[in-house]
Amino acid sequence: MKCFEKPSVYWNPYLETLNPKQLEDLQYKRFKEILGFAYNNSPAYRDLYESVGITPDSIRCFDDIKRVPVIDKNFFDDRFPLNSFYGNSLAVPEQDVVFFHQTSGTTHTPLRQPDTIEDWYWWAECWAALLWAQGVRETDRVLIAFNYNLFIGFWGAHYGCEKVGAEIISAGGLSTQQRLEKITELGVTAVITTPTYAFRLLEAAREKEIDMRSGPVKRIICAGEPGALIPSTKNELETQWNCDVFDHVGATEVGAWGFECSQKPGGLHVNESMFLTELLDFDSHEAITGPDIYGYLVITAFNRKGRPCIRFNTNDIGCWQESACPCGRTYRLLKGGVQGRIDHLIKARGTFVTPAAIENIINDEKKLGREYLIKIGEKSKTLDLIVETASELDVSEYQSVKNDLEEKIYNKTFLHFNITLKPNGELPRNELKSKRVIDLRKDR
Ligand SMILES: [Zn+2]
Repeated sequence: MKCFEKPSVYWNPYLETLNPKQLEDLQYKRFKEILGFAYNNSPAYRDLYESVGITPDSIRCFDDIKRVPVIDKNFFDDRFPLNSFYGNSLAVPEQDVVFFHQTSGTTHTPLRQPDTIEDWYWWAECWAALLWAQGVRETDRVLIAFNYNLFIGFWGAHYGCEKVGAEIISAGGLSTQQRLEKITELGVTAVITTPTYAFRLLEAAREKEIDMRSGPVKRIICAGEPGALIPSTKNELETQWNCDVFDHVGATEVGAWGFECSQKPGGLHVNESMFLTELLDFDSHEAITGPDIYGYLVITAFNRKGRPCIRFNTNDIGCWQESACPCGRTYRLLKGGVQGRIDHLIKARGTFVTPAAIENIINDEKKLGREYLIKIGEKSKTLDLIVETASELDVSEYQSVKNDLEEKIYNKTFLHFNITLKPNGELPRNELKSKRVIDLRKDR
């Protein structure tokens, strides 16, 4: 329904510009509400909190939140009695669940995800805020380039577009070629896709001698996998599509919790009115508040009640950005977005390297393609990197590109990778979530 005018650059001008004290007060109030709801309605949360002596009344100030236990995926699926479809962490009667999704299963057994209708309105609100921040308006025609099936992210995007008032083209059942044709034929102004598939569409366009730079697309909104905030990836996509490319981040169990705004500040805003996003130190597990210090992200979704998500360890790695964003939102920025997963962290010489850092180096070498695979050997004793070349290389070029890459990676990371270059097309493709790391470590 396109029945309203929204002249502001903010989807919610009040929430998006709260000062730090107002924001902290709001977060404390909302945290207490969801904690009390989970304690009173979810047997799994009740058991957990009683086991450590936490009650909602025992959390008396913002700083007390750190006393609440951190959970992970195991919390949700370790508590499945045989007669329960969603397990003991469910906090509503099962008949109140109206949406079923499940996690992708790339890092864990797929997890069933329940949502009530109120949860779903909240998902749409989170997505509307991010789409609005990236410039999507009711005048846009948005193509979602996937079959959503059980994957929650694109369903969220779909309902977020609806809430903003944009026109949605659900292109899931179409082939890549048909999607390209629809983009041109319908004058699609925004595409929601993964970075990998945005490149796949470009490849398909080249095969048909279509130049996407002169096409109708004004913005690409990336979901499903990281990459749109890696400078080299973003630059290449923006150049080849001649449009803006934006990143966002979310998780099935959590929600769509972060987004890049139209000012492209080099990081993702954390949606702090909908989520409490804590950055914790890898060793001390204390909160990191200063800039440029890496930690792992623990997130609470304030409004999700089907299965509450309270102090959930996402395993994502990041650091805070010091500078404020010119857009005027007071939500903090995660510098460079999510930098990888804690289980893919390569530690060496007191520092660490993420797959994103390696990808950025690879992308700067024009003779290399975009596909790569990192293999971390047992106890991190061997590090292998397989990279596709952009085109065929002769023997001397092969050696020179390989040596250059080894040197650049060493200079930036102080790590020696055994590098293998492969012809374009040899590494497996996955349009939704590409597997970039194979980790054989058993010492973690
Ligand atoms: Zn901003």
